[in-house]
Amino acid sequence: MINNLIPFGIMIAAGAAAMWRGAPYPALVFLALLAACFAIRLWLTSGPDKEVAEQRHKSRESVMVFLVFLGMALVPIVTIGTPIFDFAAYIASPLQLTAGIVVGVAGLFLFWRSHADLGKNWSAELELRREHELVVSGVYRFIRHPMYSAIFLIVFGQLLVLNNWIAGPLGLVAFLILYLMRIDAEELMMKDQFGDSWEEYADRTPRLIPHLKG
Ligand code: SAH
Repeated sequence: MINNLIPFGIMIAAGAAAMWRGAPYPALVFLALLAACFAIRLWLTSGPDKEVAEQRHKSRESVMVFLVFLGMALVPIVTIGTPIFDFAAYIASPLQLTAGIVVGVAGLFLFWRSHADLGKNWSAELELRREHELVVSGVYRFIRHPMYSAIFLIVFGQLLVLNNWIAGPLGLVAFLILYLMRIDAEELMMKDQFGDSWEEYADRTPRLIPHLKG
């Protein structure tokens, strides 16, 4: 669909504008990372959807998802492509920029795997689908919320890679708000839907960080 191509058009335009005005190379890497996230989501969620069966906290969820879009995509793209936020730019060390790229790419990898494992059970907001399946395999075997871990890695990458006091931390701030407002409600929803299966899964599986054992 043509609508799906618009974000890529905007990111390519921002990238071109950034090169023209001599934005630092890591900013372009961040744009590429963002484009890859969009592409993965588009690819792994395209095709016929499972119908939505239940929604929770609809208006609160819409506001938070928009906030995250603002913090992770819109403001960074404007910052990279235009001089609007240049007043908040600072000089970042090569070590910081490299660390940001490494963390961001790790996040992108986990984002891909969690989307692949969650499949059609994915939704941007708190929802259950008809014939919703409880996913406990793939990366979900190690943590209950791999997609949120992935997004935390990506926004940490953003913090390090975007050398700007506004656009750098904004993704982390926005996603932290969404995470804190959502996580208990999401787990309650899964418990209501899947009962003992969820509880057993939750008992043996940590939330965001895998157990480090041999
Ligand atoms: N919190 C998960 C999923 C994020 S997408 C993660 O970070 O990987 C949000 C939607 O995923 C929720 O609305 C819920 O319906 C669904 N969901 C969350 N955990 C799930 C699981 N283990 N199996 C199936 N669906 C799940």
